[in-house]
Amino acid sequence: MDIDKVVRQHLEMEQFFSGFTLKGKTGTDEPQQKEDNDMTTAEKAAELEKIAEEVNQCRKCGLGSLRTNAVPGEGNPSAQIMFVGEGPGADEDAQGRPFVGRAGQLLDKIIAACGLERSDVYIGNILKCRPPDNRDPRADEIISCLPYLQRQIEIINPEIIVALGAHAARTLLNTTKSIGQLRGQFLEYYAGINRPPVKLMATYHPAYLLRNYSQENRRRVWEDMKKVLTELGLPIPEH
Ligand code: URA
Repeated sequence: MDIDKVVRQHLEMEQFFSGFTLKGKTGTDEPQQKEDNDMTTAEKAAELEKIAEEVNQCRKCGLGSLRTNAVPGEGNPSAQIMFVGEGPGADEDAQGRPFVGRAGQLLDKIIAACGLERSDVYIGNILKCRPPDNRDPRADEIISCLPYLQRQIEIINPEIIVALGAHAARTLLNTTKSIGQLRGQFLEYYAGINRPPVKLMATYHPAYLLRNYSQENRRRVWEDMKKVLTELGLPIPEH
């Protein structure tokens, strides 16, 4: 089965029908949602906490019964940058926190190289529970879990999403292109009808970088992150 195709079809259908519902409800062309969600950081934190509680109880797919801990995501509820990975590994499953293993240590270094701290950004995943043996996410798991991330993005309302690796990038962009084709340029995450798209930069997953730790790959990730900093008007630290 072509997993990307199944997820893509599901997302296309969701977009099509969500547009339909909103138009049908109002019968006007007025935007139904404000461009900015206008929530305070405290309100955002409270809404994110509600999602985390739902995630911690979730049994929508088979992964729910295999986990030690769900990993809802963490960070600044008003972050300008939101990192999205694929799904928890063994360390994340043990601690209930995203990116705390080896890949997480590398992500911490990338964040620090940007002159930022982990507490400045938000870190989430496509899947909130660990797939056994770290296998790739399955289409049914992505379809069950994605609404949590979509809601998190809507609440945080980041200026830029950094999609870490092919699974995150393909899911959020609804495409089958390779990470090599997607990375290095600003693309758009479709945030729903009448909402402006969110800029998305895809880059290599830190775990891929660890497996392929070449000067060239590190340079590519740094180039991608420099584009993110420039877009946000943030200074680029010297290295
Ligand atoms: N890899 C991911 O994609 N997410 C995590 O949280 C950890 C490792």
